[in-house]
Amino acid sequence: MSEETHSKSRSLYAEAIKVLPGGVSRNMICRKPHPDYATAGTGCHVTDIDGTVRIDFANNTASLIHGHAHPAIVSAVTEQLQRGTAFSMATESELRFAQHLCSRNQSFEKIRFMNSGTEAVMAMIKAARAITGRPKIAKSEGAYHGTYDYAEVSQKSKPENWGLADSPASVPLARGTPQRALEDVVIVPFNNVDQTIDLLNQHKDELACVMIDPLPHRAGLVPATPEFMEAIRAWTTENGALFALDEVISFRMGYGGACDWYPNVQPDLTSLGKIIGGGFPVGALAGKDEFMACLDPTKDRLPFPFSGTFSANPITMTGGLVAMERFDRAAVEQLNLLGNYARKEIEAAIHSTGTEACVTGAGSMFRVYLKSKTPTEYRSAWQDADEVQKINFLVDHLYHHGFMMIGTCSAALSTVLGKDEVDQLVESL
Ligand code: PLP
Repeated sequence: MSEETHSKSRSLYAEAIKVLPGGVSRNMICRKPHPDYATAGTGCHVTDIDGTVRIDFANNTASLIHGHAHPAIVSAVTEQLQRGTAFSMATESELRFAQHLCSRNQSFEKIRFMNSGTEAVMAMIKAARAITGRPKIAKSEGAYHGTYDYAEVSQKSKPENWGLADSPASVPLARGTPQRALEDVVIVPFNNVDQTIDLLNQHKDELACVMIDPLPHRAGLVPATPEFMEAIRAWTTENGALFALDEVISFRMGYGGACDWYPNVQPDLTSLGKIIGGGFPVGALAGKDEFMACLDPTKDRLPFPFSGTFSANPITMTGGLVAMERFDRAAVEQLNLLGNYARKEIEAAIHSTGTEACVTGAGSMFRVYLKSKTPTEYRSAWQDADEVQKINFLVDHLYHHGFMMIGTCSAALSTVLGKDEVDQLVESL
């Protein structure tokens, strides 16, 4: 596609760079030579300001489970919009949504709403510290948990500074992360039970929680093994730390989240976000009553003050409830089957060209790697500059042929996608 076909986007971007750093508010929107500007989304299609229509496999980084402008969500939210969008009062919408989410997962005895996944992770870490009185957290190498100092440690671990070693100097991410934050984070290798337990034991009296994303996008988009999850559950119980599960992305894997895939494991606290908002900004912390009590403002002495002006706003609560009610057990199962189909077909298509590649993922998510060996954790998933360049080329190729992927060549399916759209993607690949 020539630059001429993007002329309106190009001129908007020229204005944007004058008022927004880099012209954007989200790093992942950046594209070279400029991002295109969306004007409308309907179902699985997004139209940009220059009139190009693409099939959306990114779904706002895995946050739209029913695609764009689902009529039932639009109708419920429009009705609520006319009655007000934010009050210094409780609303019934918050109560009904809380009841619905708590009914989906046994470990969600109570839930507190907030505005983003980052906030949910931040609340989870702070709650774990307040409950245990301990300073440190453990997280797995390279895993993304949003933008909060402790959650960011080791996100960009690479061969020169692999983040497993105990020294904080080996795990810096950004110059903005305080040294004290680095010292309070223990980095463990995903899915490696022996090394993880060994590292946890070295800090056992100081650890408030072990935080795990069961399907970490940057660690290969490979699911946690049951052995890994069970070992962390057992270790945290034995050593007075909390098992903190980050389901901001992975909740789409099961009716009660990825947690359903591990019948022997119940987390103490779970962070949520993305799909539960029905397309509106959201985060939530859910968990056992005894732990969630630390957020109870009716207590005489609140161990952990946490609030937010727009938390549980009725627009998100209304849109979220409609979206999640429609993502019932049958819808979850159907979408996961579509995910299986996509992974199988894409792998076969790539192999038929003789290219060294593999497809990882689970449930409704998949990621294409131009590697001959399927990654199993962060280090084997790590891509050098050459591999990144090739993946960028592939993502660009798909984009210019009408398919929007997450920038890592990953996809998060929505219920409005079907085999037809997957087949078109396979053909283009
Ligand atoms: N945790 C995980 C596992 C995520 O994937 C993300 C975002 O991608 C976050 C937390 C942060 O969520 P948000 O972007 O809503 O702040």
